[in-house]
Amino acid sequence: MSLNFGRTLLAIPGPSVMPDRVLSAMHRASPSIYEGELIELTASLFPDLQKVARTEGSAVIYIGNGHSAWEAALCNTLSRGDRILVLSTGLFALGWAEMARGLGLDVQILEFGTDADADPARVEQVLREDTDRRIKAVLTVQTDTASSVKNDVPKIRRAIDAAGHPALYMVDCIASLACDHYEMDGWGVDLTVAACQKGLMTPAGLSFVFFNEKADRARDTAGLVTPYWDWRPRAAAKVFSNRFAGTAPTQHLFGLRVALDILLHEEGLEAVWNRHRLFARTVWAAVEAWGIGGNMRLNIQDATKRSSAVTTIWTGEGEARRLRAWTEHEAGLTLGLGLLLRKGENADHGDLFRIGHMGHLNIPMMMATLGTIDAGLKTLGIPHGDGGLTAATRVIAEYER
Ligand SMILES: *Cc1c(COP(=O)(O)O)cnc(C)c1O
Repeated sequence: MSLNFGRTLLAIPGPSVMPDRVLSAMHRASPSIYEGELIELTASLFPDLQKVARTEGSAVIYIGNGHSAWEAALCNTLSRGDRILVLSTGLFALGWAEMARGLGLDVQILEFGTDADADPARVEQVLREDTDRRIKAVLTVQTDTASSVKNDVPKIRRAIDAAGHPALYMVDCIASLACDHYEMDGWGVDLTVAACQKGLMTPAGLSFVFFNEKADRARDTAGLVTPYWDWRPRAAAKVFSNRFAGTAPTQHLFGLRVALDILLHEEGLEAVWNRHRLFARTVWAAVEAWGIGGNMRLNIQDATKRSSAVTTIWTGEGEARRLRAWTEHEAGLTLGLGLLLRKGENADHGDLFRIGHMGHLNIPMMMATLGTIDAGLKTLGIPHGDGGLTAATRVIAEYER
């Protein structure tokens, strides 16, 4: 007997659960792309996107997923053969690095393993040793979605400054924007990439690049720029279609408008960050309690280094695979796949899974995820401490109204 005959739930780190209001706003006939509502609505998105990234720099929208923003960022600022320094703390910065290599960049990886954040002191040391200033950009993710570590973005900025190094500072906030506290201008970030399907609660299809004047000056000499990815005509567009180098992603823009209204104008960005932190702590408390008397443990030990958007969890061998299969097929809950192995390592992830807790999320959704996992552990006879759900609800009960 399967018990999966109700509304299913996704608890993966993107796509996140979309608000019904966002989906309804997208369910409409295509509007005029020449005049009227769509033109005004699109113009209203940019200042709100800047508010979410906390920047007065420019914002451009690409039709694509997060990878498109990665490519746009590199192509607008760098030339073939340029060296970049990539801070590796899981898997996602390595993905960006691989793309950079494919574009002909000279990629230097600074490795921090898969259970720790990037150490700013090591970043400073490498930049100091780069005496002829060959490194043109430092790339990091804020949240690595595979390890669920959160890098200290302002501290890495201070390390770059302490080394007196002129490299551009580029941060991938695809998993963290509108989940974790982020201040692009306040923290001295030159370029931020993001996408709409995680904290921004809109079906995949839009990506964003935010850039300041320093990054835009790099565009003057960027040899990798191509007509489609060029951010200049998009940022300076007088004709509507130039914003998108072609047809606008019309329905997505209506959806994003509603998502930004909810985040900025109904809840408020700081409340959004606080809610994510609370739910993240709820998950950690449950996992720690399950771990007493079982094999479960959080990948990131130091709570101050953990993402508010996703949590990576180890189990005994095979337990995560069995648990995910049960929640998916018997219960109706999709948990995130474990995703930490590097190329060449061939074990599959029987002992690793992730819980995404990003975006449109309330207490019943959070408790449905944790309660389903608890039921799965019991049904499958996976050893675990019994206090997971109590620990979770205790965290929720602490919240400040
Ligand atoms: C999801 C994610 C990406 C990739 O985004 P896609 O939309 O799948 O291309 C890149 N970086 C981080 C940190 C992510 O979480």
